[in-house]
Amino acid sequence: MNKTLVFTDMDGTLLDHHTYSFEAAKPALSALESKSIPVIPTTSKTFAELQPLRERIGLDGPFIVENGAAIFIPHGFFKQKPSGTVWVDGYWCKAFISNKNYWIKLLEKVGSEFDGKFTQFSKMSLEEIQDSTGLDEKSASLAAKRQFGEPVLWLGTDDEKKRFLNAITERGAFPLEGGRFIHISGNCDKGQALKWLASEYQKQYVTKVQTVALGDGKNDIAMLEAAHIPIRILSPVNLPPAVQKEEVYTSTLTGPEGWNEMLTQLLSL
Ligand SMILES: [Mg+2]
Repeated sequence: MNKTLVFTDMDGTLLDHHTYSFEAAKPALSALESKSIPVIPTTSKTFAELQPLRERIGLDGPFIVENGAAIFIPHGFFKQKPSGTVWVDGYWCKAFISNKNYWIKLLEKVGSEFDGKFTQFSKMSLEEIQDSTGLDEKSASLAAKRQFGEPVLWLGTDDEKKRFLNAITERGAFPLEGGRFIHISGNCDKGQALKWLASEYQKQYVTKVQTVALGDGKNDIAMLEAAHIPIRILSPVNLPPAVQKEEVYTSTLTGPEGWNEMLTQLLSL
């Protein structure tokens, strides 16, 4: 028998873009649970940010954080400890890139050349992080607990930023510009993480695995392209991401409504 796995983005996909509600997805969520089909959060969020969400939604299986930087699998979830994982806080953790300290050291090396031109999460107070992100205190403190990368707030000119991005890329980082921050970390994406976890399920269950992925944004493209069944969830703020794949499904409804719509149809829930 095939084992189906559902990998899902959180913001704008399982969670409503504006209200963060997942209410509309509840029918599909409980149907998946009754069929023992795991729902695997695959998100840009940190481990710390995702914990309260997993609890609220009622998901207690594996999950993927920081845009594919690492997979966390509850200890004992599989019969055997997956190879390449380390024990972290009750989880088996598979990391695809170096941890935050590595990137902070790299920033120190490059930093002397760009003195006063940038600041970064680890040097900012909670208030400063709140001011520059617009997050409330609790959310800012959870967002600050990044394990695999370091967000940089650029204070210099655009030309200086270009030089900075070159310098940091030459040293092996993959800077990602988004909003006000430049996220400094390594080469990882949600697609690579999906493939690793799917092959681990295949090994442990000795069965064919079928992967479904749902996402609404550009950082979901690699995950959608890696999945057997890619589903784009309509967004109220951006166009569906361009996916290079012959068969791609797109919801007619947005967020959790679209999530419920598509999984109910495609998996005959
Ligand atoms: Mg999203």
